[in-house]
Amino acid sequence: MAAHPPGSLAQLAGEWLGIELSARQAGQFSALTQLLLEWNARINLTGITQPDEIVVKHYLDSLSLRRVVPQFDGQRLLDVGTGAGFPGLALAIAFPRLRLTLLDATAKKLRFIEHAAAALGLRNVGTVHGRAEELARQPQHRERYQMVTARAVAKMPTLMEYCLPFVQLDGQMIAMRGADAYAESNEAARAIELLGGEIFSIEELALPGLEKPRFLVVVDKIRPSPRRYPRAGGLPRKAPLLAFVKKG
Ligand code: SAH
Repeated sequence: MAAHPPGSLAQLAGEWLGIELSARQAGQFSALTQLLLEWNARINLTGITQPDEIVVKHYLDSLSLRRVVPQFDGQRLLDVGTGAGFPGLALAIAFPRLRLTLLDATAKKLRFIEHAAAALGLRNVGTVHGRAEELARQPQHRERYQMVTARAVAKMPTLMEYCLPFVQLDGQMIAMRGADAYAESNEAARAIELLGGEIFSIEELALPGLEKPRFLVVVDKIRPSPRRYPRAGGLPRKAPLLAFVKKG
């Protein structure tokens, strides 16, 4: 198997995002690619299996959060529905001072992350197993994170109910979305308001070699989330908090 040429991610991260990766960090990303491919042969971690594609669609896309976060430095960040660790694991490599909690409902994906974090010598990564809507009700997680991220986890109104209760006051939720980000954000307007959020910005970005734009939807936490959210019994997904539709 041909790994991507060493340094290429470092070059792209520098040019596109102004992130300087050391040789050690570039090596950690290469090692992560190897581990992803090895583990992916046994458990389903990711549909993206070409090393070059992994660099752009997993690593650069994850690191693109830098566009809306001026400083990753010591904050507590929760990545909801992290899967094989995106964006969380990529951020952990690039920003060693960040303190990350990677949450997923699937235990085997977290086992991959724990193995990879140990193999790469990352000391800023912890994992939490369970469903976001249940964990968000626990005092040790509720409103405890300055930043919460999520990529490809749920529709926007559902995602807001999963994620905003974790965000501390004056913190931010950043939803990584595709081409429909504006329409999705409109659809989530009521959910965001009910949960104590307010859209701060929607940043469009192009990644090298990708036709479709990516969007970072930044939501500020301006009020505490009411205790009734997230609702139990799968309601955030089954009956999302949608906007009232005006008739006539
Ligand atoms: N963020 C990763 C994975 C996306 S796949 C990436 O972009 O590559 C979606 C992941 O979200 C899956 O691993 C799934 O287990 C997790 N997930 C979906 N709903 C969840 C919930 N309610 N609570 C916790 N994890 C959830």
